[in-house]
Amino acid sequence: MVEIFEDKLNDYVGSRHSVAVNSATSALHIACLALEVGPGDKVWTSAVTFVASANCALYCGAEVDFVDIDADTYNMSIPALRAKLETAKKNGTLPKVVIPVHLAGQSCEMSEIWKLGEEFGFKIIEDASHAIGGTYKGKRIGNCEYSDITVFSFHPVKIITTGEGGVATTNDAELAKTMRSLRSHGITRDRDEMVNALAGPWHYEQLRLGFNYRMSDIQAALGVSQLARIETFLKQRRKIANLYSHALSNLELRLPFQSSQTSSSFHLYIVGIPQEKRTRVIHDLLVLGVSTNLHYTPVYRHPFYAIQGFVPSDFPIAERYYKQALSIPIYASLRNGAARRVIRALARTLA
Ligand SMILES: *Cc1c(COP(=O)(O)O)cnc(C)c1O
Repeated sequence: MVEIFEDKLNDYVGSRHSVAVNSATSALHIACLALEVGPGDKVWTSAVTFVASANCALYCGAEVDFVDIDADTYNMSIPALRAKLETAKKNGTLPKVVIPVHLAGQSCEMSEIWKLGEEFGFKIIEDASHAIGGTYKGKRIGNCEYSDITVFSFHPVKIITTGEGGVATTNDAELAKTMRSLRSHGITRDRDEMVNALAGPWHYEQLRLGFNYRMSDIQAALGVSQLARIETFLKQRRKIANLYSHALSNLELRLPFQSSQTSSSFHLYIVGIPQEKRTRVIHDLLVLGVSTNLHYTPVYRHPFYAIQGFVPSDFPIAERYYKQALSIPIYASLRNGAARRVIRALARTLA
């Protein structure tokens, strides 16, 4: 079932190779290792993301740093990335890998990041944990046209789920082979890869230090059934997003900006609430039966990262975002009537 799921993922996103694993976190880890991230290397990711986008670099013994976000899309800012690269070039501290994150399901400006990769010599892993089904310049995210590897998550809150699970897609056969090896202890049963002569039919060899990051057949079977329903899931998410965008447009909040080059999978619907009102709005909504969330606390603000000396004022847009952002309910089983209740509750509390 794992191979069947991988084939179906390749067909769906338009990649040549898929390596299914037990989480997107594992996929990020083996993606970094396949790109030879190690001690002394630097990896950059977006300031506003789930911690896993940064932790993967530390697992490899590398250093992590953050790039501020764009004020409209909340994705990694291209001007901020360029400025940081120019400084790093002068200081001899260029990153080996950059991990842009498609926040809420909307693609980053990948062709721009790709061009910077060519100019400054870094590799690219797309953290597309939110974004399966989303498109960039008319093609599905995950086809790796502008990256080396793309990672998706199948955690229960994501667009499709395998219970827990993830995948790394790539068009590079060597990277795929390395990641396949890393997901299963670094063991091979392929005679062509073996160092020693075949000692018997039981013979296998460990060639590198890998992990048990395999996806199970049961998870893959669920993935196959989920993937068959993905268009229904996406349609309902986009319908809710449309409903929100029309009904909320005259309220005192900021709607999620949608670039014309992208079609979001709407994993999240993030509004901006005037800073002085947000705490009250969250409370009022809860009283009215509407749960909200904040995606995400900028990674450098977590105590584990803060003690490493990151300075919040280096990330002014992420700081402003952190004070205003609010994720309102969106998921495939959210009915239109319930979405209208969310709209009424928001209108009431903001009135
Ligand atoms: C969910 C998520 C991850 C981690 O996914 P798991 O499958 O739970 O490991 C990584 N990055 C981002 C942006 C995510 O939202």
